[in-house]
Amino acid sequence: MSAQPDAYTEALHRALLHAHAWLASLPSRPIGPRVDADTLAALSAGPLPPSSCAAADVIDELAAFAEPGLMAMPSGRFFGWVIGGTLPAALAADWLVTAWDQNAGMRFATPAAAVLEEIAAGWLLDLLGLPPGADVGFTTGATMANFVGLAAGRQWVLDRAGWDLDRDGLAGSPRVRVFVGAERHDVIDLVLRYLGLGAPIVVDVDQQGRLRPASLAESLCAGSGPAIVCLQAGNLHSGASDPMGMAIDVAHRHGAWVHVDGAFGLWAAASPRFRDQVTGLDSADFWATDAHKTLNVPYDCGVSIVSRPEVVRKVFGVHTSYLMAADGTPGNLGPGDPFEKVPELSRRARGVPVWAALRSLGRVGTIALVDGLAANARNLADGLRLLPGVEVLNEVVFTQVCVSFGSDERTRRVTQQLITDGSAWMSGSRWHDRDILRISVSNWSTDAADVALSLAAVARACAVVDAGNLEVEDVRRAATPRHPDRVTHDRD
Ligand SMILES: *Cc1c(COP(=O)(O)O)cnc(C)c1O
Repeated sequence: MSAQPDAYTEALHRALLHAHAWLASLPSRPIGPRVDADTLAALSAGPLPPSSCAAADVIDELAAFAEPGLMAMPSGRFFGWVIGGTLPAALAADWLVTAWDQNAGMRFATPAAAVLEEIAAGWLLDLLGLPPGADVGFTTGATMANFVGLAAGRQWVLDRAGWDLDRDGLAGSPRVRVFVGAERHDVIDLVLRYLGLGAPIVVDVDQQGRLRPASLAESLCAGSGPAIVCLQAGNLHSGASDPMGMAIDVAHRHGAWVHVDGAFGLWAAASPRFRDQVTGLDSADFWATDAHKTLNVPYDCGVSIVSRPEVVRKVFGVHTSYLMAADGTPGNLGPGDPFEKVPELSRRARGVPVWAALRSLGRVGTIALVDGLAANARNLADGLRLLPGVEVLNEVVFTQVCVSFGSDERTRRVTQQLITDGSAWMSGSRWHDRDILRISVSNWSTDAADVALSLAAVARACAVVDAGNLEVEDVRRAATPRHPDRVTHDRD
């Protein structure tokens, strides 16, 4: 027997009330959580109670328990890592997705989910200026989107080298050389570990972390055999993108598969104002991006886009192996099943909130979203430059701002004091051998008032630090972990 419809009513109603309370608290609550994980864990100690609990009461208990341990990530004054908020239409659509509970892997079984995702996919390709025949998959995030792309690249280059990966595995295969910029995101190395491809060959970058095409050409010439070139749209620290056109040309001249990690930076392509930073992007073979960052849909939602659908479907399709055309051009495969395009067989219809976000913004609104994030980043940088002893270290070309407050020590103290202050949240990081405060503007709701309040918070933090009010012990516990041997340590 099916559950009675009203079995859900009270629990959903309570969830709605708690969601309203949470969202209403965002403008005024301190951004950081009030308790740490260990304190919260100690409160919860105890085995699973033997008795059941009414669904609505579970929701009340859950909300009360979680409240002090929530970080106000959806706040317009949260600038940590690279973390988007949630557009109202995307949040509400996400709830519907959960209520519908579609296992969105198969087109014939869940046509509404499949077609909404296909529509969203078409809109994305159009907005980002990517080939209309590309296949789009919805993954948990950019890490898995990168996994899809590098798995496809591995397959494609080994196929072309005459190696049967499906039958013979990697052991004994020709070595696949993977070229990456010195400032790629750490998840690229992680994905290469998943794929058994070993350590990448690191290519020189310029001051803003952009890969140098001439160095790439040199590295490619220094060896031979199957090659994958991994480019980046959107450096975590500077926001700058690799010179796509030139780098892709070099890579393709050497027969390499070209992968682009554009977790947030790919969105530069959506705006006429920023598009020229990624000119030539559309000639790559694969693009990874996130919808849960720049597009502001709820977690979790990444997007994997491949110009050669047959390659990804060969890797991830379960029922068949597709024959690739000899020249590697896509055949007419039709829309395909969602499960053929991502690692998961069963999954939620996570592309539906993407549909809702894009439908609510429209083309003009999507461009305005991207432009607005970048404008807020420029405004924050401009305001910070006016503070004594502050240096903006990057060219603020997109949504990222890196700031030094003079010495590493002062920067760490200001970062810690800012987090203690609680009215804005920015991450400590390390870039080019300096401790920095890094700002990522990724939230659709950040407005001029948020920018002004955040600048005031930084000024206040500087004043407190300079007045020597910060205890030495607090500095020791500063939220700025340091790994001097690495360029980046952030996960996002
Ligand atoms: C955030 C990010 C990733 C990882 O994406 P997830 O969505 O966290 O899996 C990869 N590359 C870049 C450049 C990123 O900014």
